Amino acid sequence: MHNKTISELAQGLRAGEYSSVELTKAYLDRVSRFNAALNSYVTVCDATALREAEQADQRIKAGDASVLTGIPIAHKDIFCTDGVKTSCGSKMLDNFIAPYDAHVVSLFKQAGAVMLGKTNMDEFAMGSSNENSFYGPVHNPWRSGSVPGGSSGGSAAAVAAGLCVAATGTDTGGSIRQPAAFCGITGLKPTYGRVSRYGMIAFASSLDQGGPMTKTAEDAAAMLQVMAGFDTRDSTSAEQPVPDYSATLNDDLSGLRIGIPKEYLGGGLDPAIESSIQLALEAYVRLGAELVEISLPNTELGVPTYYVVAPAECSSNLSRFDGVRYGHRCSDPKDLEDLYKRSRGEGFGPEVKRRIMVGTYALSAGYYDAYYLKAQKIRHLISDDFREAFKQVDVIMGPTAPSTAFGIGEKADDPVTMYLSDIYTIAVNLAGLPGMSIPVQPVDGMPVGLQLIGNYFEEAKLLNVAHRLQQETDWHSATPAGFE
Ligand code: GLN
Repeated sequence: MHNKTISELAQGLRAGEYSSVELTKAYLDRVSRFNAALNSYVTVCDATALREAEQADQRIKAGDASVLTGIPIAHKDIFCTDGVKTSCGSKMLDNFIAPYDAHVVSLFKQAGAVMLGKTNMDEFAMGSSNENSFYGPVHNPWRSGSVPGGSSGGSAAAVAAGLCVAATGTDTGGSIRQPAAFCGITGLKPTYGRVSRYGMIAFASSLDQGGPMTKTAEDAAAMLQVMAGFDTRDSTSAEQPVPDYSATLNDDLSGLRIGIPKEYLGGGLDPAIESSIQLALEAYVRLGAELVEISLPNTELGVPTYYVVAPAECSSNLSRFDGVRYGHRCSDPKDLEDLYKRSRGEGFGPEVKRRIMVGTYALSAGYYDAYYLKAQKIRHLISDDFREAFKQVDVIMGPTAPSTAFGIGEKADDPVTMYLSDIYTIAVNLAGLPGMSIPVQPVDGMPVGLQLIGNYFEEAKLLNVAHRLQQETDWHSATPAGFE
């Protein structure tokens, strides 16, 4: 049952082959068997999940079900969940029970989805390996000694190991796509503004975007259908109509122009990964697509630009965690300053502190022009590169990450090497474009992701392009040994 997709399970539920309660129990059982080894969930909501499943069964009986009704999913612990601990992977919020639902969470509730629990993540979504979580690292289901990617590593590992049908993630610089690539699943980062950020704990507000992490593109379409749309509570939410993402999944790809950025191949890319990408591109050519070499000349400026913009925004966003209103408070503060210093000193982990310091420095008088303003200008150049490219092509493709999942501890002491794991994903956030990662041929038994980048609000096209490949190939249906 746990290998089935949302669409398959929705059919089974409607045909009465099983109830949502049975399905939910089966998943909760897997969570209790495997979570100790994977550490993918930080909170499991057994009792509420079963209650939600009962309600879903009633809706299904009454003929009032949507595709997600009764389907067990998980939310990244960055989304506020009413009455349920929302830690954001941090000691700072280890005691925080959210008093309201994030917009995305309430949309899934309305759709009748069952929330199994909250997934582990890098602290405040800062990381590429899930090693920055206060709750310890997540293990990659494909190889226990390897990282699942980050920051949505718990969601990726849970989907890959069948501990939920699908999950939500967030992506500021690659955090949906890179863990999707490392765990062999499908991940979609929508256009900035497509999915409401209300109640999604902010890291870098001009880059953060929530999206689905699923087994297939078809499931990603079903999840995005629930998540996408205008929300008055998020001032950057886009007032754009939401298309029917499932309706165009099977559209023909003949004549599709696929741009291959010359900067994405060769260089630091593992040649074995490049071969996997080539295999997928050949499959697209068989489907009628045409490959066009393009250039994104400012690619190498993506990582340095991001590591000014993201820390700058984080230093401002995280100033709200002051030990006064909610979150961790130090014991016996001497005075207000002591309260701030020790609460923040104790509550935040080393990577979060590093980012706050870098960001504060970049924004400080005297350095603002040299760093922040310069970074904003380069951000424009990066967006312009994509704008030019989309005059020639319909989608852009390349690798999601320069390597397969690396070992736990392997890059932990070297933040700059760690930052380079997002070299292919970061520019997409800086430009605000939609991007996707889908599994292609593994290398040495470890999953590899193909990245698809679309023009603004062209999620439907990305889903169509991804779905057609998944119909022709079976890379996406591989399951990690021990979790069959
Ligand atoms: N790995 C990047 C970082 O550490 C991106 C994280 C993310 O997308 N949330 O900031």
